[in-house]
Amino acid sequence: MRRTEIAVVGGGASGLMAALTAAEEQKRQHRPISVLVLEAAQKPGRKLLATGNGRCNLTNMRGELSRFHGDVPAAEAVLGKYPPQAVVRRFLSLGLLCREEDEGRVYPNSGQAASVLSLLLEHLQALGAEILCEWPVSQISREGAGFRLHSSQGDEMLAQRVILATSGKAAPQLGSNGSGYALSKAAGHSCTPCFPALVPVICGENKRCKALHGVRCRGRVSLLGDGKLLGEELGEIQFTDYGLSGVCVFQLSRMASEWAQSKTVNGKCFTSLQFSLDLLPNYTHEELLGMLQRRKRLLPKSDSMALLSGFLPVALARQITKEVLEKAAPVEMLSPSDIEKTLLAAKNYTFTVKTTQDWNRAQVTAGGVPLSEICPQTLESSRCSGLYLCGELLNLDGDCGGYHLQWAWASGMAAGKAAASACKPPKPAKSSKPRRKPHAANR
Ligand SMILES: Cc1cc2nc3c(=O)[nH]c(=O)nc-3n(C[C@H](O)[C@H](O)[C@H](O)COP(=O)(O)OP(=O)(O)OC[C@H]3O[C@@H](n4cnc5c(N)ncnc54)[C@H](O)[C@@H]3O)c2cc1C
Repeated sequence: MRRTEIAVVGGGASGLMAALTAAEEQKRQHRPISVLVLEAAQKPGRKLLATGNGRCNLTNMRGELSRFHGDVPAAEAVLGKYPPQAVVRRFLSLGLLCREEDEGRVYPNSGQAASVLSLLLEHLQALGAEILCEWPVSQISREGAGFRLHSSQGDEMLAQRVILATSGKAAPQLGSNGSGYALSKAAGHSCTPCFPALVPVICGENKRCKALHGVRCRGRVSLLGDGKLLGEELGEIQFTDYGLSGVCVFQLSRMASEWAQSKTVNGKCFTSLQFSLDLLPNYTHEELLGMLQRRKRLLPKSDSMALLSGFLPVALARQITKEVLEKAAPVEMLSPSDIEKTLLAAKNYTFTVKTTQDWNRAQVTAGGVPLSEICPQTLESSRCSGLYLCGELLNLDGDCGGYHLQWAWASGMAAGKAAASACKPPKPAKSSKPRRKPHAANR
């Protein structure tokens, strides 16, 4: 049966980084330990290729802890040891040039996620680490001080140390089917409730949503629980036929998703959740009122339905005036209260949260294996020695902007280094019979 010192389960961002770090560590320490990545899909790194719309927002230089959610205090040791600067240096040492864009977001200079993946794979190959694809791990059992890994096709493998890097449940079409939770549960771990995050939100205003489908604009989005402000974001809003999407809605979607599951947000109960959109955040009420009164004076015969055109995308301007004014009339017929109401609607356009889209449309998983069940420095399981956990499988997620990959790289480096340092080199083989070569990784 095939043996390896380190088996990494999952060839995504954290698993590839863990394998690379382990392989580098064994080289640095002149210890001939083998590192093998077991990947369920036909190719490794499929999700990585999809990140940042194919551009891979690989970290965020601001590195604010407040941008992470879940077991943040327990993750501080790893995030502090491998901050964004260390991640950028690490990629530079692999030959990847990076550039910082808005709000601290870092991308490969090539603008292609494929550059990140191919460098990781090339370095793994150069260090002699192997990737076995189409090897979905279905069970991990104890074998002496090490492990026996079973694939769902009936293959088996022995390993001294195992690094679990299977991710959570988000974007199952890219390989994360939640199997890591079952594997970690069998090793004695628990799992917090999981819900989709960075996900579009489904709203109650069906007719309005259908009318606005496809419209995009910038604005300030506030999320209110029973009228109380829970969070606020400024940025792009996308209207869809079922509700709202876009970066700033994504940032607030974690709270909407938690609420859809448990009627709580950050542990507090709310009976209703609402988005309030300020579609003209750069102008005061008085400035806008002055402009509308001027419009009434200069264009008295123009259609009242076009009152906000010039301020907002046409479909959005028309929808708001239609909802407020009920029927079309020349602008000169509008009362001061009609103008006031239209303006108020544009500064406080409200949508009721019903739920969020499902795992297929979510970018990340909120929730996972608690970090209290692993060593905060090495990420070794405290329930099962020799097992390490990293990446999105753990109860840590973040805001949009490179925070998830930051965690994947940092936790992969920590787990890979610790697993390699703890591994004993194999005893020299008694016979000179050559070991069977595995089939090459599909790259
Ligand atoms: C569309 C999209 C865009 C994103 N963009 C960004 C971005 O720009 N910046 C950012 O920071 N984050 C982004 N994210 C989030 C980020 O990609 C993930 O948080 C990160 O990839 C998690 O790394 P991971 O190693 O834990 O999991 P993954 O990268 O998902 O890797 C897990 C791997 O394990 C394999 N696997 C699962 N189960 C098994 C098993 N039983 N046996 C063997 N293999 C298994 C899977 O096939 C997969 O290859 C995005 C996510 C999505 C879906």
